[in-house]
Amino acid sequence: MGQTLTEKILDDHLVEGELEPGEEIGIEIDQVLTQDTTGTMVWLQFEALELDEIQTELAAQYCDHQTYQFDFKNTDDHRFLRSAAGTYGAHFSRPGNGICHNVHKENFAAPGKTLLGSDSHTPTPGGLGELAIGAGGLDISVAMGGGAYYVEMPEVVNIRLEGELPEWATAKDVILHLLRELSVKGGVGKVFEYTGPGADSLTVPERTTITNMGTELGATSSIFGTDEKTKDYLARQDREDEYVELSPDEDAEYADQITVDLSDLEPLIAKPSMPDNVVPVSEVAGESVDQVIVGSCTNGGYEDILPAAKMLEDREINKKTEMIVAPGSKQASEILARQGWTAEMMAAGVNFSEATCGACIGIGHVPASDSVSLRTFNRNFEGRSGIEDDSVYLCSPEVAAAAALKGEIVDPRDLADELGDMEAPGIELPDQYDGSKADLISPDEAVDDELIKGPNIGNAPIGEPLGAGIHGEALLKMEDNITTDHIIPATSDILKFRSNIEKLSEFTLSRVDDTFAQRAMDSDGGVLVAGENYGQGSSREHAAMCPQFLGIDAVLAQSFARIHKANLFNFGILPLAIDEETYEKIEQGDDIEVVTDVSEAVDAGETEFTVRVNDDWEATATLNASERERRILSAGGKLRLTKEQYADE
Ligand code: SF4
Repeated sequence: MGQTLTEKILDDHLVEGELEPGEEIGIEIDQVLTQDTTGTMVWLQFEALELDEIQTELAAQYCDHQTYQFDFKNTDDHRFLRSAAGTYGAHFSRPGNGICHNVHKENFAAPGKTLLGSDSHTPTPGGLGELAIGAGGLDISVAMGGGAYYVEMPEVVNIRLEGELPEWATAKDVILHLLRELSVKGGVGKVFEYTGPGADSLTVPERTTITNMGTELGATSSIFGTDEKTKDYLARQDREDEYVELSPDEDAEYADQITVDLSDLEPLIAKPSMPDNVVPVSEVAGESVDQVIVGSCTNGGYEDILPAAKMLEDREINKKTEMIVAPGSKQASEILARQGWTAEMMAAGVNFSEATCGACIGIGHVPASDSVSLRTFNRNFEGRSGIEDDSVYLCSPEVAAAAALKGEIVDPRDLADELGDMEAPGIELPDQYDGSKADLISPDEAVDDELIKGPNIGNAPIGEPLGAGIHGEALLKMEDNITTDHIIPATSDILKFRSNIEKLSEFTLSRVDDTFAQRAMDSDGGVLVAGENYGQGSSREHAAMCPQFLGIDAVLAQSFARIHKANLFNFGILPLAIDEETYEKIEQGDDIEVVTDVSEAVDAGETEFTVRVNDDWEATATLNASERERRILSAGGKLRLTKEQYADE
């Protein structure tokens, strides 16, 4: 039987386990990436491991999430990150150089390699045939130390693309269509492998828009094979020698196959406040629009901004609407500027942001209260824009530009008819991506050779080994789809404490209940209760580290998002699955006792745990964990375990 492309790459990198769906496998990691909000902890943990240098082929540290300097904290973090990259041998991308996924795609992503990144949209370079997975920061530290990355062997699902995109439909509509069909949970435990003539018709930047938003489907990763288009893209980035031909075997067997005829697609839009709340643009046409933003790691490339620029050429945006362009990388903004498109957009009324995550996580360009914002981003979770009552729609750059011109949501095909002289811009790559590399510092050019820590930079907390019993209050009962943004908000006023866990913990779950952190501290810990898909969203390990710091021993949820569940193990918190009936019955404030001897049961490989509620009724909770995850839990978290292992060697 032939292999899928995913299986081929995994096979090449396999160090433990078998490629059977659901089995845990260990793989060798070629490249790692970190960004600034997760990166400080990655390096503090790497420091705690007491190794001299990174062991992977390549590591890259980006500064993209928190680039604005409100006080010394972000600047100190960036200086620390530069010093860590220099000390241990990683590339360093300066603040303002761009979003990690865009800069990595441009400079380092390579077909056939494995990439592990401490950001949930790490799968973006799957569009270039790299098998890229988002993970917690601690996994990155361990991978940088030469340790394998462990993951449940995903099911490989084939998305077969037929036909070609019609005018005004874009790669963004392909992924919005899949979100509409499959939902934000549709990709859990899966890798989506794109094949077929429709896949061949897409350029690399279009493919990376799709692989980027595979994360919104909950997928472990998404990947395309390589071909002349991949070779051409690498050549334009002056990296043709990194091309490797990759495709699945003709007789590869997939767990499932989904066919999408690209010629059936039309401009789509995700309504507030979930990326899978997708409808045709025409269905919401006429809704007044206050703000439009083109950019982010999803649609912030040259090829994404250029169509909007073409639509705005010799026109003006509507007086009641503001439009911002937030390029994904300085390479994109530099080329657009050299070609004169920046001036065209400015003349049309566009404001420019530096190449950072910015508005995507509520840093700058926060929408006005009770207003509508159309964004080309990948997420529109409630409150992510910086205000609780936001109304954020997700769409393609073409739909965004059309709304900016009209001042209301409009199908760009209808606007083109109305204006009479506006053509579908299509997709166009520059002859050469000839942006400067001034903001990338390679290990050879390192400016520091020792760590520089400012006063807001603490140490990596190390957990305590698991005890026999868990007994405490259900401190918080939450609903379905609690995101890592709910657990630790990514807004600048909070995340500036990312390197200072004691302070950051005060904000844990404050978006759900602002009394939670204080109650947890007063009661010396307890347990959390949640519905389905607990911890969806980003790979932010602070979302497990802070509850650990507050003494949370266990989370009882109907189901867990993959990366967050791994993070709970890594920080010694017991993730127990409960059924719907138990979830419904438990009330916030209930007394919860895990009656089973936890430490013994975890070590013995037991899956069923008895939970006693209010000393009155009992339910069964399930621990779905591999042997390795049990060892981590038992040791009190991965950092303590890895440190002990290195000390023994
Ligand atoms: Fe940055 Fe937003 Fe992309 Fe995350 S999703 S990397 S915050 S632009």
